[in-house]
Amino acid sequence: MRTDILVVGAGYAGSVVAERLARAGRRVHVIDRRPHVGGNAYDEYDEHGVLVHRYGPHIFHTNAMRIVDYLSSFTEWRRYEHRALAHVDGKLLPIPINLDTVNGLYGLSLDEEDIKAFFERVREPKTPALTSEDVVVGAVGRDLYEKFFESYTRKHWGLDPSQLGAGVAARVPVRTNHDDRYWTDEFQGVPLNGYTRMFEAMLDHPNITVELDVDFHEVRERIQATHIVYTGPIDAYFDYRFGKLPYRSLRFEHEHLPDRSHYQQAPTINYPNEHDYIRVTEFKHVTGQEHPGTSIVREYPRGEGEPYYPIPRPENEALYKRYQSLATRQENVTFVGRLAQYRYYNMDQVVGAALKAAQNILE
Ligand code: FAD
Ligand code: UDP
Repeated sequence: MRTDILVVGAGYAGSVVAERLARAGRRVHVIDRRPHVGGNAYDEYDEHGVLVHRYGPHIFHTNAMRIVDYLSSFTEWRRYEHRALAHVDGKLLPIPINLDTVNGLYGLSLDEEDIKAFFERVREPKTPALTSEDVVVGAVGRDLYEKFFESYTRKHWGLDPSQLGAGVAARVPVRTNHDDRYWTDEFQGVPLNGYTRMFEAMLDHPNITVELDVDFHEVRERIQATHIVYTGPIDAYFDYRFGKLPYRSLRFEHEHLPDRSHYQQAPTINYPNEHDYIRVTEFKHVTGQEHPGTSIVREYPRGEGEPYYPIPRPENEALYKRYQSLATRQENVTFVGRLAQYRYYNMDQVVGAALKAAQNILE
């Protein structure tokens, strides 16, 4: 088979590049080893009719309105701002840490000025803040660090925060006000009819063919393409020549509760200090769906399995750089996406990277 472009992976990176190139007149063949499009953002109605995210909770948030404008060609939105609580010392407290977290945890009644002084007193600043431990201890001190971050991070990554790059914990801000939204981005929401419908609309173009349930290795010889866009793990592309690049995996335990309309008071509850799972998300809070029952997912971190997270730390970055230098020397292959670029990208960042990659290919 001949095609102009072979896209490996039908997640955000692959689907956005495919859409852009098809619209520019290229014939594009998209493959994915999974039986569906959408990558990790894939959603589906479970057997009880509740819309769930198979690979854990996905909420779109961004300050880049041009990314929203682009995706809005394929979906309408349900505007939704995510909130989470953390279960600490037997209490459910807002995470990111804010004024109510500190007051609730310690039984205080600080105001915004008081809490700034409080953080000033307990924080142990370290410059430069190189690790995730430095970031959190430097912002809120050791007690809050231990209660909210240390064990959660060990569970999630199998590493101590002192072994992880500063950027990991820096994703979660610290607030001195009552704002309990998980993010403060200008635009936050989920596709009105789900992510999968949005991906289907993106890939619905006469120049695009989609082949599912097939691995790149199986088609490498069969499909002749002028250009390949690869969105899978970069180490796999090069047959692990320099050794395995570490990725963190998760096991998702989905459960439906038929007899209650809600399971928990917040969309997500984090469990830093107990259980083998890190968090529980109840989808109806996110999607706004009406249903007599409810569906939840628990996320259990693990070392082996599908790669979901690049693990940001200096030695992994160094190994990635070696693969990246091979990648830049490949002619007619573009590496883009969270796995191919080994970056802890959110969805909007992947869309941005994919739009840029498509433009580069067209130029
Ligand atoms: P993927 O979605 O991983 O797509 C890559 C695709 O390539 C996969 O479908 C895979 O099957 C396929 N593939 C790989 N190798 C091969 C091969 N050899 N042959 C064929 N196919 C192959 N981001 C947010 O912005 N907000 C959130 O709330 C959010 N929550 C998240 C929660 C979890 C638990 C996880 C894991 C991620 C979350 N993200 C979130 C991040 C988001 O999932 C990613 O940014 C985004 O999905 C990455 O898109 P991608 O196309 O780069 O990769
Ligand atoms: N984190 C934590 N406790 C929390 C929430 C987050 O220690 O209650 C740390 C943890 O290391 C986590 C990182 O902050 O991996 C980033 O959190 P985020 O919610 O952005 O993770 P994601 O949604 O990408 O899994």
